[in-house]
Amino acid sequence: MGLSVLDLFKIGLGPSSSHTVGPMVAANRYLEELKQQDLLLQTARIRVELYGSLAQTGEGHATHTAVMQGLSGEKPETIDPDYAVQLVQEIREQNQIRLDGSHTIPFTEANDLIFCFQESLPQHPNGMAIMSFDSAGLVIHKRRYFSVGGGFVLSEDEIGADSPAEAEVNIPYPFENAEDLLIIGDKHNLSIAEIVLTNEKHLPRSKSPREDLLHIWEVMKSCIDRGCSQSGILPGGLNIRRRAHDLHQELLGRPEYDKDHFEAMDWVNLFALAVNEENAVGSRVVTAPTNGAAGVIPAVLAYFLRFINGRDEDDIVTFLATAAAIGMLYKKNASISAAEVGCQGEIGVACSMAAGALCAVLGGTNRQIENAAEIGMEHNLGLTCDPINGLVQVPCIERNAMGAVKAINAARLALRGDGEHMVHLDNVIETMRQTGLDMQNKYKETATGGLAVNVVEC
Ligand code: SF4
Repeated sequence: MGLSVLDLFKIGLGPSSSHTVGPMVAANRYLEELKQQDLLLQTARIRVELYGSLAQTGEGHATHTAVMQGLSGEKPETIDPDYAVQLVQEIREQNQIRLDGSHTIPFTEANDLIFCFQESLPQHPNGMAIMSFDSAGLVIHKRRYFSVGGGFVLSEDEIGADSPAEAEVNIPYPFENAEDLLIIGDKHNLSIAEIVLTNEKHLPRSKSPREDLLHIWEVMKSCIDRGCSQSGILPGGLNIRRRAHDLHQELLGRPEYDKDHFEAMDWVNLFALAVNEENAVGSRVVTAPTNGAAGVIPAVLAYFLRFINGRDEDDIVTFLATAAAIGMLYKKNASISAAEVGCQGEIGVACSMAAGALCAVLGGTNRQIENAAEIGMEHNLGLTCDPINGLVQVPCIERNAMGAVKAINAARLALRGDGEHMVHLDNVIETMRQTGLDMQNKYKETATGGLAVNVVEC
């Protein structure tokens, strides 16, 4: 398996990895193709069609604005969140777009960015098409892309084949499933984190995995800090008040004598709320493994650093590398796309990753880590995706807090055992995949079932 830790942890913009980051990446890829074929300057008009879940929850997930930003040459990892808003405003006011930041053409959102609400492409529920026309109105280039979760994008040629990230690469410890990881660990006396970090050095994306992971943590941490400092109402019309700021102030002001046994849980909730409120406003977040679930892993790691082990860089690296290894198993053998398998593929996977990672830094063996990751998913099986108004706010923000607390308990349960257990991680990953296949479409990021239809807005 040639996945990198940086495939699991991508720096991007909120609110959604599949509906915001992925479409922006797809637009970037399309621009690259235009440039490679010398078609950029010949393009007189561009049209984007969004299908399936990208259409159904695209507006609430900022898919349309992400496409416009991507076509303007902006990238998820580098775009300034404030400039992102300004850029879209300019496109709308001027009814024109500067392709790749250099070639200006007319662009009217209503005519050139189409939500195909009733149509879905057969390959994947998150499909989109981008086409260019010359000045005579003839199509000069057309490409379909699929945003398959966690910011991963495949073209129509790639979706049936191994993606570039998963293509055969020469790594010392290839693994396909959790059983492989355990066997490699036993044979070479390596922890799961050591296996992944050793492989990482052989991948083209990351030459210094330790620095990469420490940087990822810095971005996660600043997202927590920013979330704790912001107050007000979240955008989108649901009138949801941000909670992290007030909770943070309350926790800071709580008298020593007033400490209760669950104070740490309040902090875990705070960390998760802070990240996902930032995600909801389209701020800078790390997909972990998705944006909707971006708060779980930072919340559990921040909990560990605050309450258990200060700020140890080795622990941060071990935590994130272990989490990434577990995320790779889901990416390879099931899905991290809510449009494919519901929220079990987002919060469930993040919980499983965080549970195994926490178990690792608490001194768990590989088998206990595998057990913790398994518990983290076992009790999220069947979790549906039903965001109200298609916004990544309710139930999403609070659900991250629940996922983080559940991950901590999963790690604690596993640590009290000896690693032997009935349901193995590979079993639960396959169960999650099958449950996702059986789940009705209305529960898979379409905002047509569950809370999305049963909660009446005030
Ligand atoms: S309900 Fe879960 S999967 Fe759906 S958008 Fe919210 S966090 Fe993501």
